[in-house]
Amino acid sequence: MKRTTGQDRTQTRNWRPATRAIRGGTWRSEMGETSEALFLTSGYSYDDAATVAARFAGDQDGMTYSRLQNPTVAMLEERIALMEGAEACRVQASGMAAMTAALLSQLSAGDHMVSARAAFGSCRWLGDSLLPRFGIDVTVIDARDTDAWEAAIRPNTKVFFFETPANPTMDVADLEAIAKIAKAHGITTVVDNAFCSPALQRPLEFGIDVVAYSATKLMDGQGRVLAGAVCGSEEFINDTLLPFQRNTGPNLSPFNAWVVLKGLETLDLRAKKQSENALKLGQFIEGRVPQILHPWLDSHPQKALAQKQMDACGPIFSFVLDGGRKQAHALLDALQLIDISNNIGDSRSLMCHPASTTHHNMGPEGREAMGISEGMLRINVGLEDVDDLIEDMDQALTKAGL
Ligand SMILES: *Cc1c(COP(=O)(O)O)cnc(C)c1O
Repeated sequence: MKRTTGQDRTQTRNWRPATRAIRGGTWRSEMGETSEALFLTSGYSYDDAATVAARFAGDQDGMTYSRLQNPTVAMLEERIALMEGAEACRVQASGMAAMTAALLSQLSAGDHMVSARAAFGSCRWLGDSLLPRFGIDVTVIDARDTDAWEAAIRPNTKVFFFETPANPTMDVADLEAIAKIAKAHGITTVVDNAFCSPALQRPLEFGIDVVAYSATKLMDGQGRVLAGAVCGSEEFINDTLLPFQRNTGPNLSPFNAWVVLKGLETLDLRAKKQSENALKLGQFIEGRVPQILHPWLDSHPQKALAQKQMDACGPIFSFVLDGGRKQAHALLDALQLIDISNNIGDSRSLMCHPASTTHHNMGPEGREAMGISEGMLRINVGLEDVDDLIEDMDQALTKAGL
């Protein structure tokens, strides 16, 4: 295996984003394959006993076991790090494996974490149910309120954890301001960037320490595999994350890594086109529904902040109907092209009712505190012709009485 002709780490880092997405992290075997090779192997064999001893001793580079290294997985990690502008990246079996590793690898009993109220349901479960069982206190705040982050700090606060825009309320948190507060107190910031991907928002540019992903979403982008990623400094990845990951084993399979590598080649194109479609569909819906939560529309109270942090609006937005669950379900049932599905980031348009699906487990009070009403619907806008999406939405809104 060697890097493709002429590549070295410095040159790769000077490439523009579109080139990184296609070429970054590519190694070629002696076969000279153009597409990245898929190494479906759990183990490796060695020419002699001294070689394996040198590898285990860390004196020689090379593979020893696929929980520790795999060439296909390593190509994906290098490409994601390049696209994110991070020193290092490690990938995991799912977005939740990535979030769990990013948090558990650095928190211990007696530590405190501050996290955002509006978040993906399972991310809230980590803070509400899992971490407290291990003696880690968690304070939940409104991430939009920058002062609330500062006010929640205790002497033992170690981590700030949030996503922006948040699922499904589209709350936007100020990356730069929150990173600054954290830095002043020696706190590590961890941002779940699943709604944007590095094509639309790179939190490290605003001073964030660690970026964690569900690569299931925009990175794969075609609804095929689960995957996760954690990006950060070499020090964080090597000294904090890796000991946890190597010994607990939330690894991504080489096959799924290969699928995500293929997805990354078109990430930039998809993220931008889906954002364009999401803006047009949002503009069509606005005025037909009582409330729309869309970061690129004037009605979003944090539009200016969103536009500072994001290159485009992303494929996801939400809207709220007055008729509660009954009307929201009626609209979903009237759709003919857009699928009823709780996934996001897919090249197909998908729509769901968060209160009865992704945020069902939070219960009515939890949902109310997060601002998720019974009439809220969330849409992931895909790559279909936007006029077909508008026509489908138009007829479904009419059937739902709007
Ligand atoms: C989907 C998602 C996750 C979880 O990712 P999986 O790949 O499904 O495990 C975490 N955070 C956000 C914001 C998500 O959208």
